[in-house]
Amino acid sequence: MPNSSSGVKGAGFSPYADSPQKEQWALAPEAANASAAEIPAPRARVQAMKEYHPPLGSRDSLRLDFNENTVACSPKVREVLAAISAGSLTRYPEREPVEALVAAHLGLKPEQVVLTNGVDEAIHVLFETFLDSGDELLLPVPTYTMYEVYASATDARVIAIQAGDDLTFPHERLLTAISPRTKIIAIANPNSPSGSVATRAQLLEILRRAPHAVVFVDEAYFHFHGETLLDLIGVVPNLIVARTFSKAYGLAGLRLGVLAGAAALMPWIRRVLSPYSVNSLALACLPAALEDQAYVNWYGSEVLAARAEFEAAVDAAHIRRWSSRANFVLVEIGPRHAEFVRLMREAGVLVRDRSSDPGCDGRVRITIGTREQMREAVTALNRALAALRKGNLAQ
Ligand code: PMP
Repeated sequence: MPNSSSGVKGAGFSPYADSPQKEQWALAPEAANASAAEIPAPRARVQAMKEYHPPLGSRDSLRLDFNENTVACSPKVREVLAAISAGSLTRYPEREPVEALVAAHLGLKPEQVVLTNGVDEAIHVLFETFLDSGDELLLPVPTYTMYEVYASATDARVIAIQAGDDLTFPHERLLTAISPRTKIIAIANPNSPSGSVATRAQLLEILRRAPHAVVFVDEAYFHFHGETLLDLIGVVPNLIVARTFSKAYGLAGLRLGVLAGAAALMPWIRRVLSPYSVNSLALACLPAALEDQAYVNWYGSEVLAARAEFEAAVDAAHIRRWSSRANFVLVEIGPRHAEFVRLMREAGVLVRDRSSDPGCDGRVRITIGTREQMREAVTALNRALAALRKGNLAQ
């Protein structure tokens, strides 16, 4: 069929005309009747993967559900964003100069650092680079969901190491699980959703006992904890550390992560990583974000002050909570967790039900924002608890 929409010869190549592919499809109507069996099937691994849909819709309330910065990024970053020209978007992003800046900021060499599209991409690429059929990923659980999601797309086996009821780091059990097949040990430090930490001594022992494995220490919540293994990069050959700009820096929407590790490991990761996955807006903003450490320090200390106040309020409400070194606190709500989350949402506060995490039934994770925001959250929390208790009495 000619380009019917305009009637002009050659107009099929206009971006606004019906696409040529659509025209060809119309020429082969039998293709439209293809049965499900004839539709290309994804890999068996992908078919077995669980769907993961984080509840990101309608989040105009107080966002205490994703452990984000609850205020804004540095005003210096906003200035850079405002000055970006449309013309600069026509170029492919060049990450190397910014990588060098980040490396210097972290006290590392450029060849020890790789920038990624958030730590999520870092996890994905790390697993794709190292996990083969027959390999094992050791995963203390409960932990960050995306480790299991990305691991399940590989041919490796996930060995989950369940934390006890106190949700502290299952160090001894993890050591026992190390085998010649162990290829990656993934540890979020601080961990989510518990907020618990592994000590430096524990991590060093793991690094020593598994020299044949990558020990991946995800320091996404570093700014609320203050302890790091970055100083061991270049000394310990099997350590890889991740950092994100999504939390204290307030840049979750820009998608910026960092992988740091021995210079000998990084080229393998670069082979798998798209050279363009960190976009030019993110690269343009990163130097200003790094420069404004006063902003990040302010946000970190505000969260710590708010966390102490919030924990005291949770204790006063006689709710069990887990000790946290991050910008969130896990609390025990019990069987009516879903109702609690709904009551909080109705009061304008979004919190995250973690009941489906291993060993977390009835538990809800609440992100810590500023003191002012958390006072609002405490009011909502006490009202929701009162409503649940009243409901219980009536039953
Ligand atoms: N690691 C941990 C432990 C997290 O909790 C999260 C996000 N909540 C991430 C990584 C993802 O970070 P990013 O936004 O950089 O992908």
